[in-house]
Amino acid sequence: MTTSPAPGCPATTTSTDDVRSAAELDRVLAQIEETRGVLVEGSLDEVAQIERRAEDLGDVELQWRARLVRADILERQGQLDEAAKLLWQANEFALSHGRRRLLARSHFLLARTHRDLGDMPSYLEHTVDAVENLADEDPAALRALYVTRLADALAESGSLDAARVRYRQAEDIAVDAGDSTRRVLTLNNLAYVEYLNGEPERAQVAMDRLRRICTEEGIPLDAHTLDTIACIELALGRHADAKHSARASIEVHRSVDVPEVSGLPELLLTLAVAQRHLGEHAAAQESLDEARSLCEQHGLASARVQVDEQQAELFAATGRFEEAFEAHKAFHRAERALMSQQREAQARVRQAMFETSEARQQADQFRDQARRDPLTGLYNRRYVNESLPSLLAGGTGEDVPIVAALLDLDHFKRVNDTRSHQTGDEVLEVVARIFSATVTELVSSSASTNAFAARMGGEEFLVVLTGLPPRDAQVHLERLRRRVAEHDWEPLTGDLPVTVSIGVAVAGRDTQSTLLRRADDALYEAKRAGRNTVRRAD
Ligand code: GH3
Ligand code: MG
Ligand code: MG
Repeated sequence: MTTSPAPGCPATTTSTDDVRSAAELDRVLAQIEETRGVLVEGSLDEVAQIERRAEDLGDVELQWRARLVRADILERQGQLDEAAKLLWQANEFALSHGRRRLLARSHFLLARTHRDLGDMPSYLEHTVDAVENLADEDPAALRALYVTRLADALAESGSLDAARVRYRQAEDIAVDAGDSTRRVLTLNNLAYVEYLNGEPERAQVAMDRLRRICTEEGIPLDAHTLDTIACIELALGRHADAKHSARASIEVHRSVDVPEVSGLPELLLTLAVAQRHLGEHAAAQESLDEARSLCEQHGLASARVQVDEQQAELFAATGRFEEAFEAHKAFHRAERALMSQQREAQARVRQAMFETSEARQQADQFRDQARRDPLTGLYNRRYVNESLPSLLAGGTGEDVPIVAALLDLDHFKRVNDTRSHQTGDEVLEVVARIFSATVTELVSSSASTNAFAARMGGEEFLVVLTGLPPRDAQVHLERLRRRVAEHDWEPLTGDLPVTVSIGVAVAGRDTQSTLLRRADDALYEAKRAGRNTVRRAD
């Protein structure tokens, strides 16, 4: 709806001589994010460069922000599915790592993706999420931009009153920050929305305010604003003024350094409508022809449909009814084709998003599998090595006691030797089930208690209990020992009993290795005391 000046693109550097600090990268990215920049193809290299530098610096958030800019460029180049994938990944990263600003930004961009696909409910949802993830410390220009986008989404969803409130809010933010440029952009959107909703007088009021600010502040009117002015004038029946404004908009558009080609056909269409109303049919035809050829050159399907529609109107205005009828049919054909194209694009993007979350779920699954013992399904030593140190680092002290118990099956070699290795495996599985059942009971019995069981290897297990007074923990471990001993093993091992010895250690100022060593010492004591017993380290 609006075009802002292109963000400054610093000279591209190679990775070896890129010495920019995180703060510098942040500045460059913030500049690109805050302006809705006209990003040309060369920017992809620059963004890739920022991404690499952020990676060198080990700054994951900056890396993702650069990726979001890349997604933005890809989307403008029409690579919607590729863009959507990146946006969705960034969104998930931000969500799972609590990166608020990145989260807001990903929602902001996802909103536009959905809008381009004609999915209005998702468009609105993401703009709401973007605004909800803003904070006062965010730059005013960014907040005004997001709130304006929310107003746009509300308006396009038919909630005009709510939209007006949000435009006002965005304007207030811009005023507070003394940001007249941002204020003008917001007013432009408000005026356009009023115009689209059949309120040209209200649109005119907003536009007058905009013009006054531009005059006072010396801000030149950009092409889109002039086009909006022309549209409002058309709606008010001021055709000559409209023609004048439309011509001005095209002139401004052509004078920009890097004109956004996709915008021009729409400006030409506005001009053609004004010319038709003024009876300047030949001139109107010329404007339409130019718009059509631009659409064909650049594959602009939706503007092309509007050209067909205006062509039908122009034929009708000149009394060429048969051709008007044919043009009208062509318009409807093109409109239908466009809609089915949009539906296909929508399906593709949904698929891309689905694949992304599917891939994440699979990755989670693999990650989990790598931390499980395949025979018993309990956690393995790798899980223990990853989780116990942080548990000990954060959880020691009076409030959250941590108790570690090493459990070793008694005379397990006998089971293997006198029955079979297969029987031995089955015994391990049953013992593991008893351990997990006990742990699950314990965890669900109290909100402050946590526990897990792991197989450390062979017939040795670890149970970790947190949030239980050591004395209670020992009672539970005693019960665990009894459950194993009292289990009906007869069908599996016949007259061979299955019991477990348990060594317990209460964490003080322990590391994982000192804690487990003490538990192992206690286990040794339990074995020496005759097995099938619990011993606690001092
Ligand atoms: P102790 O009471 O002193 O612990 O005697 P033990 O026989 O249990 O101890 P030892 O360490 O001498 O033997 C452990 C045996 O456990 C040796 C090995 O055959 C068996 N074992 C280790 N892993 C597995 C497994 O995955 N499956 C089966 N079936 N046996 C295993
Ligand atoms: Mg052993
Ligand atoms: Mg053993």
